[in-house]
Amino acid sequence: MPTPVNRQIVLRRRPVGMPKPGDFDLVESPLPAPDDGEILTRTLYLSLDPYMRGRISGVKSYAQGVELGQVIVGATVGEVLESKHPGFAKGDIVQGYSGWQSHAVAAGGAVRKLDPRQAPVSTALGVLGMPGMTAYVGLLDIGQPKPGETVVVSAASGAVGSAVGQIAKIKGARAVGIAGSQDKCDYVVGELGFDACVNYKKGDLLAELKVACPGGIDVYFENVGGDVLRAVMQLLNMNARIPLCGLISEYNATDTVPGPNLRPLLFNRVLVKGFIVSDHLARLPDFLKDCGGWLREGRLKHREDVVIGLEKAPEAFIGLLQGRNFGKLLVRVGEDPTK
Ligand code: NDP
Repeated sequence: MPTPVNRQIVLRRRPVGMPKPGDFDLVESPLPAPDDGEILTRTLYLSLDPYMRGRISGVKSYAQGVELGQVIVGATVGEVLESKHPGFAKGDIVQGYSGWQSHAVAAGGAVRKLDPRQAPVSTALGVLGMPGMTAYVGLLDIGQPKPGETVVVSAASGAVGSAVGQIAKIKGARAVGIAGSQDKCDYVVGELGFDACVNYKKGDLLAELKVACPGGIDVYFENVGGDVLRAVMQLLNMNARIPLCGLISEYNATDTVPGPNLRPLLFNRVLVKGFIVSDHLARLPDFLKDCGGWLREGRLKHREDVVIGLEKAPEAFIGLLQGRNFGKLLVRVGEDPTK
């Protein structure tokens, strides 16, 4: 039998503009061995998320960057192969932060054990993981939608946006999505139960938003920025709220991005609050209880876009920045024994 090796994707050079496959290298190294208090895991799923673009850019951000030659960061679901920690046994499934590699050693305290009977283990990276929790705290704590109000969310078919609209509906609000294709809009309305969805790549976004939101917009969950934000701002109601979650349209910009007109925020007393999900970890038990329950009851749907093979990670990540993913983007790195 061949000696198992650790396959890793490392940062070769800092991307300029849209990342290219050549910005990454696939390297192999011997399997790491766990010390006392640590576990060795085999990666099953790797989460690809927009924030990774910031981590490889070299620009100072709220999250620590990746140095040249280092494994790219990322949340993972893995199977324990060997444990030197009393809380874990061989075969346990855990959620951790192993990054873009097939195997990793982690401190027992740095991972969370998953129960495959509660939900498919991959959901710990999507609808029941960081993106789901981002939707939950951003919408409920900052957006605070009331029954009958209109909630608009951009990147609506994605990991965060799809949960935002559905939670808005669960709370009695109208949900309107903005997404980048007719297929995505059909899914958002037909499968997820949003009231409407506008394709921002076709037609007149402002005119279509006016039709979809006849009473104006009370909550805009901001994921993209740029032209989409400019259109939405013209329809904001008095005392509207904007959970400012992400600005993906600007993540690959090489020049200064023209700023939006902020005056409607002032005139309408709009609250804009940037937030980072890691500041809200005290809400984790509430999130898991509510969203786990809604998922089991079929009230919270989710879609995974699973790419097979660690070597596909760079290209899949570039696809995410271009809108080619449809749903929560995961890389299946190893066979999932729970399926
Ligand atoms: P998604 O699963 O939604 O994937 C990204 C999507 O963004 C693409 O599919 C594409 O959808 C859209 N997109 C890409 N480029 C553009 C563009 N130029 N203009 C408009 N839309 C674009 O990702 P997530 O749900 O994981 O993340 C959504 C947002 O939430 C991101 O901005 C991310 O940075 C942010 N975020 C913030 C967190 C926080 O703590 N503040 C935590 C987690 C995520 P489409 O085809 O519809 O355009």
